[in-house]
Amino acid sequence: MFINHDYIYNILYETKNPTNEEIREVLEKAKKREGLSYKEIAILLQANDEKDLEEIYALAGEIKKDIYGKRIVVFAPLYVSDYCVNNCTYCGYKRDNKFERRRLTMEEVAEEVRILEKMGHKRLALELGEDPVNADIDFTLDCIRTIYNTQNANGEIRRVNVNIAATTVENYKKLKEIGIGTYILFQETYHKETYEKVHPKSLKSDYEYHLTSFDRAMEAGIDDVGAGVLFGLYDPRFEVLALMMHNNHLEEKFGVGFHTVSVPRLQEATGVTLETYPHLLDDLMFKKVVAILRIALPFTGLILSTRETPSMRKELLKYGVSQISAGSSTGVGGYKEREEGRDIKQFKTNDERSPLEILKELLDDGYIPSYCTACYRSGRTGDRFMELAKSGEIKYVCEPNALMTLLEFSLDYGDKEIYEKSLETIEKEVEKIEREDLRNYTKESMEKMKKGERDFYV
Ligand code: SAM
Repeated sequence: MFINHDYIYNILYETKNPTNEEIREVLEKAKKREGLSYKEIAILLQANDEKDLEEIYALAGEIKKDIYGKRIVVFAPLYVSDYCVNNCTYCGYKRDNKFERRRLTMEEVAEEVRILEKMGHKRLALELGEDPVNADIDFTLDCIRTIYNTQNANGEIRRVNVNIAATTVENYKKLKEIGIGTYILFQETYHKETYEKVHPKSLKSDYEYHLTSFDRAMEAGIDDVGAGVLFGLYDPRFEVLALMMHNNHLEEKFGVGFHTVSVPRLQEATGVTLETYPHLLDDLMFKKVVAILRIALPFTGLILSTRETPSMRKELLKYGVSQISAGSSTGVGGYKEREEGRDIKQFKTNDERSPLEILKELLDDGYIPSYCTACYRSGRTGDRFMELAKSGEIKYVCEPNALMTLLEFSLDYGDKEIYEKSLETIEKEVEKIEREDLRNYTKESMEKMKKGERDFYV
């Protein structure tokens, strides 16, 4: 097993109470973007002094700016089934919660997709509970097909990331074949004993099987995988080091680590009492974890959901988050139900703003909201993506695409206010595109777009 618990306990013990000099030394090394050892990451995780934390945040912000510029990728989750055979203690969909379970028909999936498209979304994360009978792999594949085939006016979903339970190589091959973006699976906790405690007697109880799911996904040819920890189940310092071990394991074995890391923090849910979880993260620890992840994994996308409040999201965008969900519902059929005034959720969300409202704030704060999906559609995945990211070349594709998809959003789904705000940003940013050919191409495409033409491919 590649999560060496004793090794992690030992370095956490050895690095207790680091001095300011030790922390500064690690930060100097981190500036070179050549990676950090487990011990160095542990030193940062143990920093508590306010001045040290400010330096950690500042470096995370710098790294983010260098690698991602001002771009923030926007997406939404789509829940299609709440049938679940598992009994995860922390989850609103657990087996012991008795409510009428449902899965969407394909017509209902299409209806949800049309609502999401009308909000301007181009990128979804497909979510469902684990139930091999009521929601098997064929159901998942049907959903993906339906999503890609459901278009209205200029609305289309161009990338479907998939968050389904750990499964077999054979099933991962089917996901690969149908064309998914990232395969996302959260380890929830890397701490074996805690894992077994919070996943009692169920398919999900098997720590090793869950932990090795990315190995199977990669064997099946899926090269973009998205990891995550459900922060609040166990000591976050342990979790971050274990997450790094998982990433390194994949890099060593397959030549590529995580495409993204998600940082969900435990929220209230039906039948879930937060007081029974002794490792809940306060805001300070959470910010520290996000900043350190950005420093330790400079080229990995960091995803933040609407579990967090608008003000926490605003702050974490500064320290490293590069993708956010917007306008989300965490209930099956939740988008239609919200329109009708009902909304049953997997867990509590804390940012209920529409994508339009969120985009306006992003623009006001100097970001470039992006609905780009070009990497996946052009085959820039896995190690090909990482090579481009590490060489810095990726920005030549990301920048024009971000600007074009922002204009597209403003034209198709925006109001006068966002159109004006976007144009102001776009006109300024397009001049900054370093390569002349790309700058001219982007300008031309944008002029065409304003006249109603769509000839770009993102
Ligand atoms: N069934 C799939 C699986 O087993 O991985 C999909 C997972 S679920 C739809 C998405 C994620 O929601 C879970 O992996 C878990 O981390 C998160 N989640 C569950 N309950 C939560 C809660 N109370 N607060 C915050 N996140 C929660």
